[in-house]
Amino acid sequence: MTPKEIKEISELLQEPTTIVLVPHKNADGDAIGSALAMYHYLKARGHRVKVVAPNDYPEFLKWLPGTANVLKFDKQNNQSKRAIAAAKIIFLLDFNDLSRVGDDMQKTLETFPGVFIMIDHHQQPTDVATYLFSDTSICATAQMVYHFLELIKDENAISKDMATCLYTGILTDTGSFRFPNTSPTTLRIAAKLIEKGANNARIYNNIYDTNSYNRLQLLGQALQNLKVVPKYKTAYITISEEEKRKYNFQKGDTEGVVNYALSIKGIVFGVIFIEDSEQKIIKISFRSKGHFSVNQFARNHFEGGGHDNAAGGKSNLSMSETVLTFLELLPEYQEALAKSDEI
Ligand code: 5GP
Ligand code: MN
Repeated sequence: MTPKEIKEISELLQEPTTIVLVPHKNADGDAIGSALAMYHYLKARGHRVKVVAPNDYPEFLKWLPGTANVLKFDKQNNQSKRAIAAAKIIFLLDFNDLSRVGDDMQKTLETFPGVFIMIDHHQQPTDVATYLFSDTSICATAQMVYHFLELIKDENAISKDMATCLYTGILTDTGSFRFPNTSPTTLRIAAKLIEKGANNARIYNNIYDTNSYNRLQLLGQALQNLKVVPKYKTAYITISEEEKRKYNFQKGDTEGVVNYALSIKGIVFGVIFIEDSEQKIIKISFRSKGHFSVNQFARNHFEGGGHDNAAGGKSNLSMSETVLTFLELLPEYQEALAKSDEI
């Protein structure tokens, strides 16, 4: 953002106004953590603020301070639409294109006449925002929210609740500080957030050590289904609707499972295919190590996108057809996969 833009945003936020914060559909820790951190910040500055999430998000994030105030656009449709209609400013957090909120909410947002401020770290943001703060080198939108507060010279306003939300976003998007996107700056900011009251051990516990027995059994099934294709340094997992039902699937239960595919020695491309009979799609998560861009792969073949090493997409075919289509694509990428380093 230019100094002029930063000045304009600071001026917009000078007087109390009405603001809506929007994370992407199926919000993860970074999207909802960033939205709730901004919620606490803007509330404390006297604004009227609502978080409107496109839909529900996993239970393991529902302890976050402020979570009770999040409206779900699909279930609380009238309230959400009223909140959006009343807003003067809408923050778009952790996504790069309006399609990432889902069709219905996208239609509502497209008619919004006010100011959009997008804060995001995904590749190739589209030109929808009045103000765009985009940096694809940064590990998490939550880290960018911290930088945003620095830019508007208000990082001293970070409260314990804000620190908790921001730390959650950074923790989850860095795979607990292990992915290469974890920079020295990330760790310095994490340290500052702990100083401001984020309880790192409790946050980790709330997110990762609150599994249900069924969730672990579903993970066991997913690992049974894991297939390795050594020729292409690829491993993939499938989870069918029937398997989800068997283990009483709850939103968030498959989060992180794809990483097991990448945890195999020598594997640089990990994929999980999850059947979703409600949306009538196969939802796909792609992960890679090294230079092989799953953002590009997802964009090219599965109507998706994301980051170079973590992306998502979907298929309208059946599970077996989707997997077959995927396997048939691999030869085209043999050289790129062979060259992709493990780190
Ligand atoms: P996940 O696989 O955990 O759902 O998502 C990995 C990354 O890709 C996240 O940053 C997420 O926002 C992005 N992503 C997931 N699904 C899609 C999709 O369908 N389209 C786009 N453009 N990005 C996605
Ligand atoms: Mn993110």
